[in-house]
Amino acid sequence: MKKINHIINGAEVATTSGRTSPVYNPATGETTAEVGLATVEEVDRAVAAAHAAFPEWQATSLARRTTIMYRFRDLVDQHKDEIAAQLTAEHGKVISDSLGEVKRGIENIEYACGLTEHLKGSFSQEVSTDIDVYSIRQPLGVVAGITPFNFPSMVPMWMFPNAIATGNTFVLKPSEKDPSVNSIVAELLSEAGLPDGVFNIVQGDKVAVDRLLEHPDVAAISFVGSTPIARYVYMTGTGAGKRVQALGGAKNHMVVLPDADIGLAADAAVSAGYGSAGERCMAISVVVAVGSSADPLVEAIEERIPGLVVGAGNDSASQMGPLITGEHRDRVASFVENASGEGATVVVDGTDQDFQGDGFFLAPSLIDNVSPGMACYDQEIFGPVLTVVRVDTYDEALKLISDNAFGNGTAIFTRDGGAARRFQIDVDAGMVGINVPVPVPVGYYSFGGWGDSLFGNSHAYGPEGISFYTKAKVITSRWPDPSSSVIDLGFPQNV
Ligand code: NAD
Repeated sequence: MKKINHIINGAEVATTSGRTSPVYNPATGETTAEVGLATVEEVDRAVAAAHAAFPEWQATSLARRTTIMYRFRDLVDQHKDEIAAQLTAEHGKVISDSLGEVKRGIENIEYACGLTEHLKGSFSQEVSTDIDVYSIRQPLGVVAGITPFNFPSMVPMWMFPNAIATGNTFVLKPSEKDPSVNSIVAELLSEAGLPDGVFNIVQGDKVAVDRLLEHPDVAAISFVGSTPIARYVYMTGTGAGKRVQALGGAKNHMVVLPDADIGLAADAAVSAGYGSAGERCMAISVVVAVGSSADPLVEAIEERIPGLVVGAGNDSASQMGPLITGEHRDRVASFVENASGEGATVVVDGTDQDFQGDGFFLAPSLIDNVSPGMACYDQEIFGPVLTVVRVDTYDEALKLISDNAFGNGTAIFTRDGGAARRFQIDVDAGMVGINVPVPVPVGYYSFGGWGDSLFGNSHAYGPEGISFYTKAKVITSRWPDPSSSVIDLGFPQNV
């Protein structure tokens, strides 16, 4: 059985905890590897390696750091097929989704390649006689990333390229469900010339997370995962005096106005709802059908579902793969099974479809006449289930979104520019799509939701990522002109 180990100071380290977690191929249900779960001492070793590497790394020239980031970017691009195959093997998503994940990760490395620009300070000359004021940004030290299963390569890349480029050293605690891909990434970083100890991986669970949250040498924590854990990480990490950004779960609404192109909206709902088996934090989960759009929209989505090919991610014919585990598949199915008892209408029941073998497959479901108070509306399902809430007016659609605890992404489909403009201003969510169902910001903006979708005030990656991983220093400097008749101020003269 393959063992997935830590990477500390450039070397593989096996756990001594005796605790392991199974890693599956979700398309077959087979256990393909075991990941060793860290002890507190192993986390301490990774943090110590990062701590020891920090002084030299932060003193490394911007030119050298830039060269390494460019090389790393090219290596990830050259190895994208290998990385994508590994993603599909442990996560289950189809190869085109895996390649898309790698591409979105590369965007963040490209942004980090601009570190010379990002780290430029500002300068104000002669704010008072002989006095200049300027600012610089400096790295924090050791920072840690704790990441979810659904984007096992991209989400770490939301974090470590910007963190490392700005002079920090990094400890990654990936999801224990599909951790292997990050070992490939660590090798590529090393091949790009990154010194040992700058990027470390500890495999683990709550034990590892808790140690990172309390470790005195960890200056900051970036977390992405479900809302209850995000809240816990934020409260515990900030309680220990750390800088924390903690991105949580989602329930993304897509509003369809009566004037929308129904075909376009249905295509968008299907790809954004069922793509990657709905295991995306920016997946559309609730379609909000306004007025007369409802009947044709539900019909158009229903018509498209049988055309969706569900199968193993490494089969090029598949458009949707399995879910991450059998347990998660059963939880997702339970929302569909209980929906009619709560008064909703199950239009397409994916739980009816049987699949050969032991893979964690679940076909797409469509549930109509859903309303707040039903479990399938109130909870994050994180699977291939689209729910439809019917409302009479735009204002009701807006209120529905505002009243929802999550505020990650949202979208509107309309042909009316004025309505779209009003929506982008009025709606309570951090990321908004206009005729775009999954508005994940490009790497040079920042990613973050509102409400229960984000704890802390810093979004991930882009400009806010650079700001999160650096601390500002402002210098007020007086150098009296030696030729002037200024009285002796007790400062050294600049001669
Ligand atoms: P999760 O919260 O179960 O796990 C995330 C990380 O936290 C993992 O590394 C895990 O090992 C760790 N963890 C789990 N339980 C813990 C505990 N009790 N104490 C300490 N650490 C713990 O999330 P997941 O199931 O891996 O990922 C899916 C979730 O992530 C969904 O809710 C999804 O919406 C969310 N997500 C959000 C974003 C975003 O940008 N907002 C992006 C991707 C995923």
